[in-house]
Amino acid sequence: MNPIQTDAVIIGAGAAGLMCAISAAEQGKQVYLLDHANKAGKKILISGGGRCNFTNMYTEPGNYLSNNPHFCKSALNRYTPWDFIAEVDKASLPWHEKKLGQLFSDNKSQAVLAMLLDRCEEVGVNIVLNYSVDSVDKINDQFIITNTTTSYQCHALVIATGAMSFPTMGATDFGHRLAKKFGLKVTHTYPGLVPFTFDGAEKKQFQGLSGISIDTDIEVNNVHFRENILFTHKGLSGPAVLQISSYWKPGDKVTVRCIPDVDMASILKDTQQTQPNKHLHTILQTWLPLSVLQCLCDNIDLQKPLHSYKHSQLQEIARLIQHWQFIPSGTEGYKKAEVTCGGVDTDEISSKTFETKKVPGLYFIGEVLDVTGQLGGFNFQWAWASGFCCGQSLAI
Ligand SMILES: Cc1cc2nc3c(=O)[nH]c(=O)nc-3n(C[C@H](O)[C@H](O)[C@H](O)COP(=O)(O)OP(=O)(O)OC[C@H]3O[C@@H](n4cnc5c(N)ncnc54)[C@H](O)[C@@H]3O)c2cc1C
Repeated sequence: MNPIQTDAVIIGAGAAGLMCAISAAEQGKQVYLLDHANKAGKKILISGGGRCNFTNMYTEPGNYLSNNPHFCKSALNRYTPWDFIAEVDKASLPWHEKKLGQLFSDNKSQAVLAMLLDRCEEVGVNIVLNYSVDSVDKINDQFIITNTTTSYQCHALVIATGAMSFPTMGATDFGHRLAKKFGLKVTHTYPGLVPFTFDGAEKKQFQGLSGISIDTDIEVNNVHFRENILFTHKGLSGPAVLQISSYWKPGDKVTVRCIPDVDMASILKDTQQTQPNKHLHTILQTWLPLSVLQCLCDNIDLQKPLHSYKHSQLQEIARLIQHWQFIPSGTEGYKKAEVTCGGVDTDEISSKTFETKKVPGLYFIGEVLDVTGQLGGFNFQWAWASGFCCGQSLAI
C-alpha cells in the first residue's frame, strides 16, 4: 500500500497530542493525529470529576516529579497557565477557581474538549480514530507508521500516547515500548495519584469508617500535604492520599497528623487542670467524629472524665491522633491511578523541542515522559505546555 506522505504524525489524541497538533498546524505543518480509541481526549472527558481541572494558576516546576526537576522549566515558562486561560476565554468558556489555584470548567469537561477539537478543525488537523498502530520504522530520515489499512510517512513523529493509568480510557505502555525499540531509556514507572490499600488488622480497624473524610497533614519521606483524607472500604483515598502516593514506595511509612492545627497533648493537659470532670470524648469531638477517634485510639476508652486519665495516657491518646503511622499494603494500581510516575528518561529529550537526542525527528510529549504533576491541574498544564512547545518546533 502507498503511504500517505505528511509533514508530521502525532500518535495519541489526548491532551498533549491535541495541543501539539494545533500548535504544529498553526505553523503551517500538515498533521495527522492518530488514536486507537473511538474518541479523542477521553481522559479530558472524565477529568476533574467531569468538570476538567484544566490548569493551576500557581504552576511551578516544584509541582512536578522527575529524575531531572529542571527539565520541565523551559516549556512551563514558554506556555503558562495564562496562555491556556486565554484560549478558554477566547472560546467564551466560563471557569472558576475551586481552591489552591485549581481552575475548573463551569460546564462539563466536554466543553474543553470541544474547544480543542474546534481549533483542530479550524487549523486543518486530520484526526484519525480507531487507528491501531502495527509498526513504526525509520527508513533514512522518514518514519513509516503502518497498520493493516493505512500507512503514513513523515519527517516528524510525535509520541503522545500517555502511559498506563486508567486502561479503561485507552491507556497503554505503547510509548515506553516504542522508546525502548529506538534505544531510549525509560525510568522506573509506578502508579501515582492513587488510593492506598490496607490489609489484615488495619483493614479491619478502619473499614467501618468508609465514606468519612477528615482534614490532615500527611507525610512520606519528609514530603507533606495538608488536605483531606477519605476512608474507603479498601483503605484510604482523598486529595491528601492521592498527592502523597506519588512520593510513596512500597514499604515506606506514612504519617498522618489529624487535627493538624492544634497541639493536642497540651490542650488535654491544660483542660485536665481547668475542667477535670469534662469527658475526654466531648473535647475530642470538637474536631473529629467519635467513630474516627475510636478507630485511631483502638481499645482505649475515651468516654471517661479527664481526671481519671494519667498524664501519660493523655499523651498517648494525643500521639495516636496526631502521629498516626502505618505502612499501606499497596495501592489500587494503574486501574485507579490518575497518572503514571516515571517514563521516557528526560536525559534523552531536548527540553526546548521535545525531540529525542538519539533519533532525529522523533519527539515525546505529555505523560509518556518522566514528568508527573501533583494533583490540581498540573498534569494538564504539562500536557498543554509540552504539546505546544513541541508543535512550535517540529523540524521538517
Ligand atoms: C480519572 C482521571 C482524572 C484526571 N483529572 C485530571 C484533572 O482534572 N486535571 C489534570 O491536570 N489532570 C487530570 N488527570 C491526568 C490527565 O488526564 C493526564 O495527565 C493527561 O491526560 C495526560 O495527557 P497525555 O496527552 O499525555 O495522555 P492521554 O491524555 O492519556 O492521551 C493519550 C492518548 O493516546 C492514545 N493511545 C494510547 N496508546 C495508543 C496506541 N497504542 N495507539 C494509538 N493511540 C494510543 C489514548 O487513546 C489517548 O487518547 C486525570 C486522570 C485521570 C485518569
